Amino acid sequence: MGMIGFYAGSFDPFTNGHLQIVKKAAKCFDRVIVGIGHNTEKQERIDKPKMKEAIEKVISEEGLSNVEVVLYDGLTIEKAKECGANILIRGLRNGTDYEYEENISEINEKLAGMDTCYFRAGDLGYLSSSVVMELYNNNKPIDKFVPRAVAELLEELRKEES
Ligand code: ADP
Repeated sequence: MGMIGFYAGSFDPFTNGHLQIVKKAAKCFDRVIVGIGHNTEKQERIDKPKMKEAIEKVISEEGLSNVEVVLYDGLTIEKAKECGANILIRGLRNGTDYEYEENISEINEKLAGMDTCYFRAGDLGYLSSSVVMELYNNNKPIDKFVPRAVAELLEELRKEES
């Protein structure tokens, strides 16, 4: 049986840190599904279908042929199961991430019997979607922190908003 990993996030926006996790996971699993969901604790800015297109472009440019992207509402475990995934994937930057992720992972294990595999952020551990949006809001360049297709999408958004 193939191993299918489900990497959930709000990806608002998808950063180079997220991309690094996808690349690591794609090496370990037969298939990786990037699930773009909603984080009700965060104020989300970017259109999800547009972010999906941008991530698909990045994946294709990177030649990650075993990775696909889906949008979802509701519980991550339900979408992951529907997609046939057998493991959840999350990234860890620091101890704060660990505490937060452990709580979710434990619930998912209890509720759905699905375990979570963590990948280390390593040198990109400083990077977060909120830092990128802070720079974007202050008209600073963000192209060092996100893949090109995502930077283009944010430029589009800037034009729409001005
Ligand atoms: P959520 O809103 O569900 O926390 P995010 O899009 O912020 O979703 O992040 C998705 C996952 O990616 C989380 O597990 C988060 O810890 C991880 N992550 C975020 N930024 C990085 C990074 N720079 N390096 C590695 N993992 C990261």
